[in-house]
Amino acid sequence: MSNKKEYLRQLSAVDEILQLEAIQSLIDNHPRQVVVDAVRTVLEELREAILSSKDPAELAGLELGPEDLVPLITDLVREVMQPHLKRVINATGVVIHTNLGRSILAPEAVDALMAVAGGYSNLEFNLKLGERGSRHDHVEDLLCTLTSAEAAVVVNNNAGAVLLALATLASGKEVVVSRGELVEIGGSFRIPDVMRQSGAILREVGTTNKTYLKDYREAIGEETALLLKVHTSNFKVVGFAAEVSLEELVALGGEHNLPVMNDLGSGVFVDLSQYGLSHEPTVQEALKAGADVVTFSGDKLLGAPQAGIVLGKKELVEKMKKHPLARALRVDKLTLAGLEATLRLYLDPALAIERVPTLKMILTPLADLEKRAHRFGEELKKKVGGIFDVKVEREISRVGGGALPLEELPTYVVGLTSAGFSAVELADKLRLSEPSIVARLKEDKVLLDMRTVRDEEIPEAISSFERIAHLH
Ligand SMILES: *Cc1c(COP(=O)(O)O)cnc(C)c1O
Repeated sequence: MSNKKEYLRQLSAVDEILQLEAIQSLIDNHPRQVVVDAVRTVLEELREAILSSKDPAELAGLELGPEDLVPLITDLVREVMQPHLKRVINATGVVIHTNLGRSILAPEAVDALMAVAGGYSNLEFNLKLGERGSRHDHVEDLLCTLTSAEAAVVVNNNAGAVLLALATLASGKEVVVSRGELVEIGGSFRIPDVMRQSGAILREVGTTNKTYLKDYREAIGEETALLLKVHTSNFKVVGFAAEVSLEELVALGGEHNLPVMNDLGSGVFVDLSQYGLSHEPTVQEALKAGADVVTFSGDKLLGAPQAGIVLGKKELVEKMKKHPLARALRVDKLTLAGLEATLRLYLDPALAIERVPTLKMILTPLADLEKRAHRFGEELKKKVGGIFDVKVEREISRVGGGALPLEELPTYVVGLTSAGFSAVELADKLRLSEPSIVARLKEDKVLLDMRTVRDEEIPEAISSFERIAHLH
């Protein structure tokens, strides 16, 4: 049989396939629509494969009887019925991995979120007075207690926080910012673009590597509404460089009666330098230095759900709460529940370090990582040692999320090579396994960085490896 028409004629009709016992049983166990769509898709794909084939040899031996299509249809139904958004095991070692959902939450935050998700809540209801309340009330006092800020408002993310602050404080007016701080943060968030969206006019000063106080001073005029300092997050200018400190900017703002805003980006409550990391300016320090507005993310170093937190002078924050954008950018109850529970942990910083996974992972002692790597490595050798060459090695992991970009965190990894697969093939298989494992590639090796793999995930990861080895 050589001609395409002949193959096409062999393809069954949808109705005929639906009568098959195997397909009927699929329909008993899955939504009918999903099964019918899968049948259509499989037929369509085969039709296209036949029509587009250039070489008759490609089609030789193609089995097109209705029964032959059952495995393809079953696989497709299974795939469609799986959740699209699902948990993965992060073996990259990048703690705040934006593509993998940034911070994972403390158990306390997960519990709080579930309680509010599955039941009604006092989201906008004042239980004491029995009248309408404000969603802002659930975390504002807590944020003020933790940071000594006068007021706080929380929105959907930090990009939204910056947008809201600029739109409220500087729409139609000029905002002075250093050229060295006009950064792009992953996912194409660019400070100049956000500023344009807010209606504020960007007044760039200084150069990429050097900006002096006099540059800001000379730019201040009738139209100036705000002085802005932006944390450069994912890069650092090193070498011949100069920047103006927040304190100096605050003093200049004071002379001209202009508010000063500091977009911290990551936003951290705990001084990480006491644990041997580089100093990252804390939220409390920015407020203490006199910033009128401080903005930062909930899900970077803070380790809370995705959110944008604005702290600052009461008068300014109250204006932001009333801005129409505040409604468009508002956070939902799940975020607030997770954020409140995370913030409560920070009331005792030692507890926060113990319970907030982002901090815990960054600060895990090297000896613990080594132990975990050996445990994982030994188990892998025992179960799949015949297929994989397993070695525990010293490596470097990264914080991620635009925080501490130059920080090299010493870590231990389980390195894998196999005669049966290339590193890229193995990484593909791990990603597609259940649960999915996202690893790091280095030269011809797959590395599993123990910093971001939790102890309870090790048995699951081992099972994934066993399945991969078994199918091999
Ligand atoms: C990450 C970051 C943002 C954006 O925050 P999202 O929470 O991702 O919206 C804004 N500014 C700086 C300096 C950042 O590092």
